[in-house]
Amino acid sequence: MPERLKTIVNEEKPRFFDMVEYFFHRSAIFVEKKLLEEVTCGNFQHNKCAQERRKKEIRGILALMEDCSYVVEINIPIRRDNGKYEIIRCYRAQHSLHRLPAKGGMRFSNDVTRDEVKALAALMTFKCACVDVPFGGAKAGVKINPKEYSEHELEKITRRFTLELVKKGFMGPSIDVPAPDMGTGEREMSWVADTYSKTIGYQDINSHACVTGKPINQGGIHGRTSATGRGVYHGIDNFIHDHSLMEACGLKPGWAGKTFIVQGFGNVGLHSTRYLHRVGARCIGVLEYDGSIYNPEGIDPKELEEYRNKNGTINGFPGAKPYEKKEDLLYEKCDILVPAAGEQAIHKGNAHKIQARIIGEGANGPTTPAADKILIEKNVLVIPDLYINAGGVTVSFFEWLKNINHVSYGRLTFKYEKDSNYHLLQSVQESLERKFGKSGGRIPITPSESFQKKIHGASEKDIVHSGLDYTMERSAKAIMRTAQKFNLGLDLRTAAYINSVEKIFNTYSEAGLTF
Ligand code: NAD
Repeated sequence: MPERLKTIVNEEKPRFFDMVEYFFHRSAIFVEKKLLEEVTCGNFQHNKCAQERRKKEIRGILALMEDCSYVVEINIPIRRDNGKYEIIRCYRAQHSLHRLPAKGGMRFSNDVTRDEVKALAALMTFKCACVDVPFGGAKAGVKINPKEYSEHELEKITRRFTLELVKKGFMGPSIDVPAPDMGTGEREMSWVADTYSKTIGYQDINSHACVTGKPINQGGIHGRTSATGRGVYHGIDNFIHDHSLMEACGLKPGWAGKTFIVQGFGNVGLHSTRYLHRVGARCIGVLEYDGSIYNPEGIDPKELEEYRNKNGTINGFPGAKPYEKKEDLLYEKCDILVPAAGEQAIHKGNAHKIQARIIGEGANGPTTPAADKILIEKNVLVIPDLYINAGGVTVSFFEWLKNINHVSYGRLTFKYEKDSNYHLLQSVQESLERKFGKSGGRIPITPSESFQKKIHGASEKDIVHSGLDYTMERSAKAIMRTAQKFNLGLDLRTAAYINSVEKIFNTYSEAGLTF
């Protein structure tokens, strides 16, 4: 662990990039040891030389994973609707290009800084590796409060930023592919795709793969908008049934009777709430930047979504009461807490007040290293961001594949599968009738309710959902195996980082580090 990062674990508000570096280094210690142990042979002298060589390679490659490869700062002028001119500060960071394209969201927020964008780009590298999405990590940030700009102004900013990224080589289906993040959604991604494909991408048949999270008619994919929230549900589901983990954090396995609180009712918060509610957990509180609401009997996510869409706020929602001191709802008693707003929501100053037993990090970087330490000591199960909010990038990967394949999932197989299923039923019926004779009349074959649902073949949405489910399950198992192997107890974050760092290491190692 570098000297400069050793104090991070005591800091109240560390730099975000230092936080990610700290978590990376914490796992790199395990990875280095493991990789060195693998270099053994009978001859002592030979062994020593091989170990020295390997140590240099390991240190070199791990050092490459520390900083961002490229960071660009772009200041763009726009003329506001009122005629005034304004310079908007924007960034794109590419952390690691061990796999291409680099991938990561585009954030519109007043809190955007160079440090934040770098940290989020680094997290993307580790996140993609964690869930086996073959991309490098990147992130973009535009320093504005999108609520203070008209649609026309936002379109101008997005299109101009896209052009500038293209000019600097920071965008393209095979180079760097943004996606939605805080303050952006399908609308902004559609402007990005349109700007790219009408300018530099006009001769590129894959131009629409320059960005993901697009609307369906622009090459988007079913299930992308809700993918991160759906992934948060799968992420918790994969751990909540584990008896020993639940015993360690003091909960009964399974969803029955579980309560949860969500911070941030945007894309990730809303969809996480929907899926957790659907599986039977009870949402008892929601925190937003302008107020918090609480109802121990349960808040209906659909009703809250409709109310928020109509009123622009969750305040005044008739299905819950206002929570007096809004930030303190974070510390209310519940089983699961889903921070789904900004970074560093849980820090040294408040981690000891958290009563939830499971934290599902829907947001990126919501827990500082100091808070992480306190939570582990309190036996709280923290399901880390790089795993649990990876549903978005996973489905973005599916969208990118759809775009470069130029065909939607299921298009070629849909009818064939449906016909095959009917032929199968027909064949079973004919066999039975042959065996038992038709004297007693025909023997109708009635498909079960679950088979009936699947008989028509898998739609794009079905394929996306099962691909996401499989990805989250496989990665959870890998994290659990690593946690056990290194005796990490409830420290799933270190386990997830170890898996990612080792995969990235292998990619660099096999490809060669230098020219
Ligand atoms: P969003 O803009 O759709 O929603 C964020 C919500 O949080 C907004 O409703 C906002 O009002 C609220 N909020 C802001 N500050 C708050 C505060 N201090 N307290 C309570 N609420 C607050 O953004 P999003 O896309 O849902 O992203 C949320 C987090 O999830 C971010 O950390 C983002 O990086 C991460 N994330 C998003 C995706 C994705 O696909 N959108 C994927 C992975 C991770």
